[in-house]
Amino acid sequence: MNLIRVAVNFPHKNEGFHYYCDSQVVVGQLVEVPLGKRTEFGCVISIDEKPKDLTIEEDKVRAVKEVLSIVLNANELALYQWISQYYHYPLGQLIYDCLPHFMKKPRPLELTLGEGQDFEFEPNEDQKKAIEGILPVNHFDRFLIHGVTGSGKTLIYLKLIQEKLKSGKSVLFLLPEINLTPQFVATFAKYLDGPVISYHSELSDSQKFQIYQMARTNSEPMLILGVRSSVFIPLQNLGLIIIDEEHDTSFKQDDRCPYNARDVASKKAQLENVPIVLGSATPSLETYHHFHHLKKQNLFELRNRAGGAYLPTIELVDARDKNTGEDNIWPLTPRSVEILKEAIERDEQVLVFVNRLGFACYIQCRSCGEQFFCPNCSVTLRYFKRKNELQCQHCDYKEPMIQSCHNCGCMTLIQKGFGTEKLASVLSELFPDKKIERFDRDEIKTFTQLQARLAEFHQGEIDILVGTQMLSKGHNFEKVKLVLILGIDNQLNFPDFRSSERVYQTLTQVAGRAGRYSQDGRVIIQTLAPENPLFETIKEHSFDGFYQSELDMRKICQCPPFQKMALIHFNSRFQERVTSHVRKQGEILRHLIEHHFPAVIILGPRQAMVEKKMNQFSWNILLKSTDPIQLHNLIKTFELNYQNENSVSYKVDIDPYTLI
Ligand SMILES: [Zn+2]
Ligand SMILES: [Zn+2]
Repeated sequence: MNLIRVAVNFPHKNEGFHYYCDSQVVVGQLVEVPLGKRTEFGCVISIDEKPKDLTIEEDKVRAVKEVLSIVLNANELALYQWISQYYHYPLGQLIYDCLPHFMKKPRPLELTLGEGQDFEFEPNEDQKKAIEGILPVNHFDRFLIHGVTGSGKTLIYLKLIQEKLKSGKSVLFLLPEINLTPQFVATFAKYLDGPVISYHSELSDSQKFQIYQMARTNSEPMLILGVRSSVFIPLQNLGLIIIDEEHDTSFKQDDRCPYNARDVASKKAQLENVPIVLGSATPSLETYHHFHHLKKQNLFELRNRAGGAYLPTIELVDARDKNTGEDNIWPLTPRSVEILKEAIERDEQVLVFVNRLGFACYIQCRSCGEQFFCPNCSVTLRYFKRKNELQCQHCDYKEPMIQSCHNCGCMTLIQKGFGTEKLASVLSELFPDKKIERFDRDEIKTFTQLQARLAEFHQGEIDILVGTQMLSKGHNFEKVKLVLILGIDNQLNFPDFRSSERVYQTLTQVAGRAGRYSQDGRVIIQTLAPENPLFETIKEHSFDGFYQSELDMRKICQCPPFQKMALIHFNSRFQERVTSHVRKQGEILRHLIEHHFPAVIILGPRQAMVEKKMNQFSWNILLKSTDPIQLHNLIKTFELNYQNENSVSYKVDIDPYTLI
């Protein structure tokens, strides 16, 4: 009989529960244990503890129900333990969330095998520097490739991967979105030898489990290319990790454990003692600051587009200029229409970017000013014309478009704001002979639809593609020279410390779709605030300019990278309960800070910007500190003493991406 400690899939932040086990188990072994009346999943985290160390009565210790055949290896378990501590998330629950579902009889997996074609590539000076700097490194170290859009980062990745595979090591390649996997798989599989495996949410449980098993048991070199969850795949003989678009918010999980896969990957590289390469055209301020100040020798800058293409010219169009505007072109300005016409006449393909869905952002009564809200959330409903519906952007609430005001009965309802549907409709009227399609969540719901629409666009069957940020990431559109960007002002005015950075990244990424293969790419940004200094840095493609001014800002507002942040969210169906509870918790935290953790600053509690979402009211408390240890210890102490309040839940978010 062994006495073992098990991290059980249960939302409890302790060091695990004790069980007896009469068969042989090892640390890392997965088991099924009784918990109350249920059977739960667990992972053995220590064995053979002396009963005298126990604080529980021995006769209450129960026996393990089943010992499973899977054992997490030491690094795998160490990674989970680090995540659990760093993000203050229960270990057993974390392991359960992150592992694929186990299959007794999984279906066989279809693999893409690399063709191993000759890869002829004459790197330019900058590319060469990066390759020569990274390739010889076989131990843990971090590198950043900061290269403008179209600078040929992918070719560097390919070269690094190819050499690693040749030396018998496997490579993990993370990218932010499933949308991008096919184009990378296609490029990589052409030149690499051995399996090229993509791992993403569209795979079945069986396929995920197969990949997991294959990676952990097979020592043959392979490339795994996947979204954030692939960071948990325990590749044998790992030799290199690459994170493309390291700045992307999709690497941060927002439900369950709010980990950032980029940071988890860094920890993984350290545990496995392998190098990790981050790449981006618009690195996050924290990452860039780290390399710029502390590890300049590991920062590689690619300032020019590969193959002689130039960066696009960027022009601002003042959307306030309404003098010559006609109603039938709104939200476009006459200047934007003129530029569009010229491009269309030259038979070019055009991308139009607006980061909002629908026909109108909200509807307002003309006589009494009433707006129409979602019954479950504190936001106005959006209008979708083709479906003739009002929809909520936070929950799945929808209702048929109203005919008159609920409040005063007035029949005149004004449409305010615009989204992709409105733009596509205006463009169809302006260019009746041209094919105009949308590329957004409203139109494209599956991966297959997405691939089909991209294929149509690549083949030149679509003249103007109107899309949201789905368009912005990584896609290469050979025939696009003109990109038109609208509606960025809302994002710019968003009350969050990262809003400038977001806008800079979005604009640079979207602009990066223009003229990647030509000398005359052009980007038009229609804005209500052309005087905003951020646009200057974008026009000049000056990352340094953006970086310096943003860094000054972050210093003044005591934000990352100068301070570490944690946000505690409180949620409840009952508004009064969450408000009184969060005030009490704020007092407790203030008291702890005053007496034990003086290096921590507390802000709030305050209500979330959208206070009610899906009938849950949320309030936040923000903590920040220059001393990460004090910050972590404060949260730990707070959680150990936390008194549960009926129907109020809370969640800790370390390094939050948004504060509102
Ligand atoms: Zn009214
Ligand atoms: Zn809603």
